[in-house]
Amino acid sequence: MIQINIPFALKLHAYGLMRLQDPNWTSLDLFDFFKRYARKRESPFFFHNFEERGVLYHLGLLIYDEFVICDNRFDLQDCEDLSWYLETLIDFLIAGEVSPADKWISRAKNITESIDSLFNKSEEKEYYRRIDKTRYTLRRVHNEITDCYSDKIKELGSVYAANYSDRVLHDRQLCAFIAQLLVMIGFDGNEDLKGNPQQWVVRKNIPAWAKKTIYSRDRGKCAICNTDIILELSENDHIDHIIPLARGGCNDVVNLQLLCQKCNLKKSDTLLDITSSIPPYITRRL
Ligand SMILES: [Zn+2]
Repeated sequence: MIQINIPFALKLHAYGLMRLQDPNWTSLDLFDFFKRYARKRESPFFFHNFEERGVLYHLGLLIYDEFVICDNRFDLQDCEDLSWYLETLIDFLIAGEVSPADKWISRAKNITESIDSLFNKSEEKEYYRRIDKTRYTLRRVHNEITDCYSDKIKELGSVYAANYSDRVLHDRQLCAFIAQLLVMIGFDGNEDLKGNPQQWVVRKNIPAWAKKTIYSRDRGKCAICNTDIILELSENDHIDHIIPLARGGCNDVVNLQLLCQKCNLKKSDTLLDITSSIPPYITRRL
C-alpha cells in the first residue's frame, strides 16, 4: 500500500492555503477549473450533487498538479528553493514506491546531498557557488523526474487529493471560506435587487455518508451553540448549508455544518460567522 509522505502532504496543504489567499489565482485559475463542473459540462456533477470526490478532492488535485509540476514556481535566480524542493520530491516518490536506485532519483539525491553537505559544513560561499553552478542541472533533473514519473505522479494525485480533502474538511472555517469563494463560480450574473448572487443549485437530499462525515467533524455538537445533539441523530434537518442555497451556496460537504434545530430555524437563509471546528487545545489553557 502506498504510504503518504507526511512532509509532502503538509507542504501541499500550506501551498494550497497560499493559493487560496491569492485573489488572482482564485478568480482566474480556480474559477476556470471549477466552472466546467458548475455548468455541468463535466462529470462528476459536484456543486449540484453530493459527491465523495467533490469540491475538496478536486481542489486537492488542482493544487497537487501545480505543486508537483511547478513550471513557473522556481526561477533560475532562486535555485536554493528548487534544490530543497527536489529533496521533497524524491522523498515523496520513494514513499510512492519508486526505487531510490532509479537513474534520475539517485542523480537528484547525489546533487542535493552534495549541496547540503556544504551547508552542513558551514561553507557558505561554496554552498551558494555550488547552487549557482548547478542551477541548469537542478532544473533539468527536476524536468526529467516529472517527465519520467508522470504516470506515477498522476496515480499518487488521487491519494494526496483525498488526504488534502480530510485536512481541509477538519477546519470548518476554512471550508466556509472555500464555500464562499465558490459562490461566484456557479453564479452566472442573475443577481437580486441588492446585487446578491441567487440560487443556482437545486436542493438535494443529503446522503448518509455526508451526514455521517459532518456529524463526525462537528463531533455531534451544534456549530453555533455547542449543544450536544448526538441524541437527536434520527432527525434529518440539522445539517445546514453554511452558505444558504438561496445565496449561491452549493451541495457539497465543504458547505455543510451541524446545527441544532433551534439554531437551524433561527439561521434560516442568513449568513452567520462560522465557529471553529478545531478544539481549543491550547487556547483553553491561556
Ligand atoms: Zn444550536
